[in-house]
Amino acid sequence: MRDQYGRDICYLRISVTDRCNLRCVYCMPEEGVAWMPHSQILTYEQITQVVEAAARLGVRHIRLTGGEPLVRPQLYRLVEMVKGVAGIESVSLTTNGVLLAQQLSQLRLAGLDGVNLSLDTLDPQQFAAITRREGLLPQVLEGLEAAADTPGLTVKVNCVPTQFNEDQVVPLARLAQEREISVRFIELMPIGLGRDRHGLSQEQVMERLTDAFGTPVPCANPKGAGPGTYVTFSGFAGRVGFISALSHQFCHQCNRVRLTADGHLKTCLQYQDGVDLKPYLADGVSPTALEGALEQAMYHKPVGHHFSTQTQAGDEKHNMNQIGG
Ligand code: SAM
Ligand code: SF4
Repeated sequence: MRDQYGRDICYLRISVTDRCNLRCVYCMPEEGVAWMPHSQILTYEQITQVVEAAARLGVRHIRLTGGEPLVRPQLYRLVEMVKGVAGIESVSLTTNGVLLAQQLSQLRLAGLDGVNLSLDTLDPQQFAAITRREGLLPQVLEGLEAAADTPGLTVKVNCVPTQFNEDQVVPLARLAQEREISVRFIELMPIGLGRDRHGLSQEQVMERLTDAFGTPVPCANPKGAGPGTYVTFSGFAGRVGFISALSHQFCHQCNRVRLTADGHLKTCLQYQDGVDLKPYLADGVSPTALEGALEQAMYHKPVGHHFSTQTQAGDEKHNMNQIGG
């Protein structure tokens, strides 16, 4: 369906949990967080009901995220349920990769189409400093290898470049030199703990890449729709992408909405706007009412974010692990 500004809303990002096995400095506080009570978290059946309603409205692509989606038991069941919904064309996963190697074959059998693996550094000490967990980088790299070796699976590496890991821009981009994957640099957004940190802009990243690899050659987004812009370099098997919400705002072509683990449909990353879908998932409520609530909220999706200006009433107060990124 089209929203009030004519944007085709075809992508739903679903957070399946707020829990995580890492504590990335720009995402979760060190001291921990008050978890959503289990009773508030949508069941796989309820999530599937939302996907069915969304698909009837034209949503075609689903991404599962979190918190860390792979800490939720039997995630492959949800992949299978959602992939089976009429109209859904792709189901992908955004993960920190710690549990990926051990779950990948089950997820793939269930119909998983793509994996975005978040990886900010290839340096074990830096990894421990950013994620506040020791010794897990080898497991993440094992997950990346397993994903890259899976025929037909779309694999992207997502890095948030900040003052912590600026020396990693070139080593991470090299992953796309050797393999047919996309390595993407995502500008840090001023949401939750991201407000307290300083991220690198697309231009700053590009400067480092050009110094190392020469002139970039623009190329197509590997999957068509999406906010990323892509380049490649001479001798690269894959691509380097940029998702630059601050320096290259893409709200006018935003095609997505988000579902939090406790059933709130968020229509823009920056605002609390949206609708609580829980009441529409109760026994005895008709699927038409759920579809109507979704349609109303999607139609009223805000025109865009205002990351570069002062915070306003109604801005998102949660951390990224509670929103899904
Ligand atoms: N745990 C999974 C992971 O790390 O991929 C999924 C959830 S995580 C919130 C999703 C993505 O959001 C990660 O790639 C993370 O780096 C990114 N992220 C978290 N906080 C961010 C911020 N303030 N600005 C930009 N990206 C952010
Ligand atoms: Fe966990 Fe992902 Fe947030 Fe890191 S970015 S703390 S892995 S939810």
